[in-house]
Amino acid sequence: MQNQSKAAGSEWTIRKVLSWTTSYFKSHNIESPKSDAAILLAHALETERIDVYLQCDKPLYADERSRFKTLIRRRISREPVAYIVGEKGFWSMNFTVTKNVLIPRPDTESLVEAAMSVLPDSGPQRILELGTGSGAIILSLASERPHCLFFASDRSAKALDVARENAERHHLDESVHFFSGDWFRPLKNDMYLFDMIISNPPYIPTAVISRLQPEICKYEPAMALDGGRDGLDSYRVIISSAHAYLADGGSLLLETGHNQKDGIQKIADACGCYENVIFTKDYGGHDRVVRMTKRERIKG
Ligand code: GLN
Repeated sequence: MQNQSKAAGSEWTIRKVLSWTTSYFKSHNIESPKSDAAILLAHALETERIDVYLQCDKPLYADERSRFKTLIRRRISREPVAYIVGEKGFWSMNFTVTKNVLIPRPDTESLVEAAMSVLPDSGPQRILELGTGSGAIILSLASERPHCLFFASDRSAKALDVARENAERHHLDESVHFFSGDWFRPLKNDMYLFDMIISNPPYIPTAVISRLQPEICKYEPAMALDGGRDGLDSYRVIISSAHAYLADGGSLLLETGHNQKDGIQKIADACGCYENVIFTKDYGGHDRVVRMTKRERIKG
């Protein structure tokens, strides 16, 4: 019996394990069953995904199988792959993520792209990110525009720990100054003016959160998702305050929900301190980013 199970076990090659796991994930309605299986197996084997494919005839040892089984169970309970493996690729880098930060989304690369199109290739600029989470946005900008000065805040101390860890991981800890606090509160008595303020604030209407896929509503921090009754609470706070911290002509750039264009336009118009309110779409064709410019004060 023992010999039999040993023999059966030795047949579990990487190829067979991947194919079994892919079908198992499919039967549990996991969205990307094949790539999830490969990423998790590579993690269990402490190797790169490419090596998993290159060594597909290699049998798995019992301890490797048992490590992988634990990861399969976590994924079946709908824990996101990024939390299981502890990182996520965004822009040009891998960022450490924990359950205390939102997992960076490909859609948010549109926000980084929009910021890059505004930031000059040279010359000092001061950039502030609000609600930095993993730091993916500000660190991507810092890697592209080394001559700028970067500041980033979050009200979650645990999120800031992750952001700082990512800054060190990418040798950008000298470029970005992190501080804790809610939106603009830490800057209250400060005379700092920024050339750009950027944020991916929480924007999901409260009642919608429990209807999102379990990967999001069971695992991601509600604090980073919950935008209040209509999803626009953060925009009201940020838009009505940001102009006081922007230099004349400075830009405010925000990620938006796909159906929030009209609501955000109204908030910006009601504030009266901005001009050129421009919405741009993500690669899925959804409104995803709003950019507005602080109106220059008329000197009299
Ligand atoms: N884009 C995220 C989602 O739809 C939400 C991020 C946010 O609220 N800022 O899951």
